[in-house]
Amino acid sequence: MSSDRTPHWMIQARFILLCSPVGIVLALILAPWAIFVLPAFFGTLVVFWAGSRLFTNGFVKLFDPEGHEAIKQNGGDPFYDSLGAPLNNDSEQVRMTGRRSHTNCPGCGRPSLVKPNKAFRCPTCDAHWHENNWWRWTGSEWIVLKLGR
Ligand SMILES: [Zn+2]
Repeated sequence: MSSDRTPHWMIQARFILLCSPVGIVLALILAPWAIFVLPAFFGTLVVFWAGSRLFTNGFVKLFDPEGHEAIKQNGGDPFYDSLGAPLNNDSEQVRMTGRRSHTNCPGCGRPSLVKPNKAFRCPTCDAHWHENNWWRWTGSEWIVLKLGR
């Protein structure tokens, strides 16, 4: 399944990177034991990370099984999708659908996920995407809206 989401490994790598100065300072302070401190520190991070994910996903699954199922169907992950910047810089759209929006609605500028040959109706301004054009009903006829770019 193709996806525009930030890969999980990258988010985890950012987390480790963000925490590493703490580990390095700890290792410097406890210099003679650095060889034990560093693996213990990063080991703790990984365990903490896995634990948080297990907890978050378990929590969502327990209290919102349908929501959990929907997120999984979309290829999402409740834990990774809930993380904010700088760990996860994905837009709301990408978190929800796994895809970047392809275009903006020419009627109202709302980012919209339209696919070739697949009808879509803008929920904000009621413009229609149909036969690879944007249309608007003027009250008496359908007119083609020009893409604003
Ligand atoms: Zn619109």
